[in-house]
Amino acid sequence: MILFWAVSVAAVVVFLTVSVRSKMRRTRFFAAPFPRTWEKILLRNVPAYAILPNRLREKYHRRIKEFLSEKTFEACGGLETVSDEMALTIAGYASLLSVNRSGPAWNSLHSVLVYPRAFAAAGEESEAEGGLVARERGTRDGESWTHGSVVFSWQRIARDIALHGNGQNVVIHEFAHQLDSDDGIAGGRPAFPDPSDVRAWQNIAARELERLRSGDAGTILDEYGAENPAEFFAVSVEAFFEQPAETKRAHPEIYALLSRLFSLDPATWEDERIRGEPV
Ligand SMILES: [Zn+2]
Repeated sequence: MILFWAVSVAAVVVFLTVSVRSKMRRTRFFAAPFPRTWEKILLRNVPAYAILPNRLREKYHRRIKEFLSEKTFEACGGLETVSDEMALTIAGYASLLSVNRSGPAWNSLHSVLVYPRAFAAAGEESEAEGGLVARERGTRDGESWTHGSVVFSWQRIARDIALHGNGQNVVIHEFAHQLDSDDGIAGGRPAFPDPSDVRAWQNIAARELERLRSGDAGTILDEYGAENPAEFFAVSVEAFFEQPAETKRAHPEIYALLSRLFSLDPATWEDERIRGEPV
């Protein structure tokens, strides 16, 4: 009996020591300055980082650290490992969406799966049945699941970085789906801070989606958005972050609503940087 208690007490002491140590490690990780090597990777792979207003930088760095410490990265399809550059790039784009939103970010997301290139779909899942929102049929560059994972082709991410400014970005696209499916349904109806904006979004998105379907030359949104309201929301978010000035000009109502959803006005970032920010 004495032996039993001794073993139990020892187990509790070990558990507490491990948990205190991991808490201390976490505190040190968050207190440490943002590594210079990480800044260099972000400047290379996440162009918005170069013009991100100073007032958002600390929050942005914290969001990235939270993402890297809380999410699991998994190499798939023959990829040897998810490199620091890959993880940081994905965390960098995800954190653009979350930087100025209140509360914790990406709560229902657990893992990020990375394939070296486009991957074969396991089957013909549908949004209603499996919570899956696929970017393509057959082979896919990205997937977002409502039950805790996102999947990417690194080749596609690298292509989007090289072609920055064309309005397409698979990481932003899939994280827009994650945001949209926070309530368990990816229906193109995200949770706006002001509930009256939900109805406004639905009305404006329905009208703009029809414009996209009709081939209206005035729209700058990716035609893939014509698939359904969920895809329309995802391509709008891509355009908002990748071509903010053009989106504000061509789709002012969409831009204004997304600006309120993210509490960001990225169309002004470049000018702010040039003029110097107000103190
Ligand atoms: Zn999609």
